[in-house]
Amino acid sequence: MDYVYSPNAKRYDAMQYRRCGRSGLKLPAISLGLWHNFGSVDPFENAREMLHTAFDVGITHFDLANNYGPVYGSAEENFGRIFAKDFKRYRDELIISSKAGYDMWPGPYGEWGSKKYLIASCDQSLKRMGLEYVDIFYSHRPDPETPIEETVEALAQLVHNGKALYVGISSYSPKQTRAAFDAAKNLNITLLIHQPNYSMFDRWIEDAPVGEGLLNTLNELGMGSIVFAPLSQGLLTAKYLTGEIPSDSRAGRNDGFLNPSDVTPNRIVKARQLNEIAQNRGQKLSQMALSWVLCDERVTSALIGASRPAQIVENVEALKNLHFTQTELQQIDEILSTAENVHGSSVSPWHTN
Ligand code: NDP
Repeated sequence: MDYVYSPNAKRYDAMQYRRCGRSGLKLPAISLGLWHNFGSVDPFENAREMLHTAFDVGITHFDLANNYGPVYGSAEENFGRIFAKDFKRYRDELIISSKAGYDMWPGPYGEWGSKKYLIASCDQSLKRMGLEYVDIFYSHRPDPETPIEETVEALAQLVHNGKALYVGISSYSPKQTRAAFDAAKNLNITLLIHQPNYSMFDRWIEDAPVGEGLLNTLNELGMGSIVFAPLSQGLLTAKYLTGEIPSDSRAGRNDGFLNPSDVTPNRIVKARQLNEIAQNRGQKLSQMALSWVLCDERVTSALIGASRPAQIVENVEALKNLHFTQTELQQIDEILSTAENVHGSSVSPWHTN
């Protein structure tokens, strides 16, 4: 049975919106990504309900990429179907992003950072989603072989041709970020935002003991940050606390990016210890994990994923308590100081040096 979606009239009452760097754009403190659970292998009605639920609680930002699925491209196609049905009238209330950088189609022009790939991929994404433009288009990962100037030139061209309002980069190191920012400045374009991964289990963007941390760099350049996988793909939720892997969880399914071997004894112990602090704060572990990334004001938005609508509602409740006492922060640091580093594991293959 089809139905007509009518958004919650009070959708803007509880959400917080944060300015993205020194730009005019504000993003919701919690945004929704369509990496998992929106592909052609997933139930369409669940995907549709998750987007409705998100918009109803004030999530105005949906994040996609060319190859989200599986199969590649199918998350954008499904989003396009849902957009046409339910969100077309609300286009100006939405920030929709896409990216190109990882493998998308065969041959030498189907991945990395060439102008050839980025321009073609953005055109394909727009077609799949049925959009005239995306609000943000990203270079999804730095390309060690393509000159950064060429990648940035492609981003600038997308802006000049009206295909993207803003542009950003993802998983670039502080040094690469500066180089991209400078290249953009030379073309009179501002790089709006960086999308790095960040969670209690992977703190690589924080200020480094030696050298500069990514958050500092972004702050100095006036760029925003939207941090992805703040729940470490679900490891920072209650679902793995017993040590069992539920069959309907990301680690339990065989089409996701989290492996059963990522649910290690060390992480289970750490999650249990963190869960105790969360309970004392009156939060779920997942909510505390989100509050924790957002308590640094240099973080513009926490980019979550979800497999069901109720998770989105629960996660947004985190915004009711973003304050941590010094004691809580110290206890968390202490727990994390002996946590297994997710660098190099399949949980965190993203960032570069
Ligand atoms: P999260 O760390 O938020 O993990 C999301 C998963 O955690 C959900 O799919 C769900 O998995 C579980 N979960 C979420 N909320 C709850 C809850 N309240 N209780 C229990 N379990 C919960 O983020 P993702 O890894 O999904 O990444 C988020 C987005 O970031 C992506 O969609 C994408 O847009 C972006 N991203 C960008 C990358 C880049 O290179 N730029 C790389 C990766 C992601 P379950 O199935 O177990 O229920």
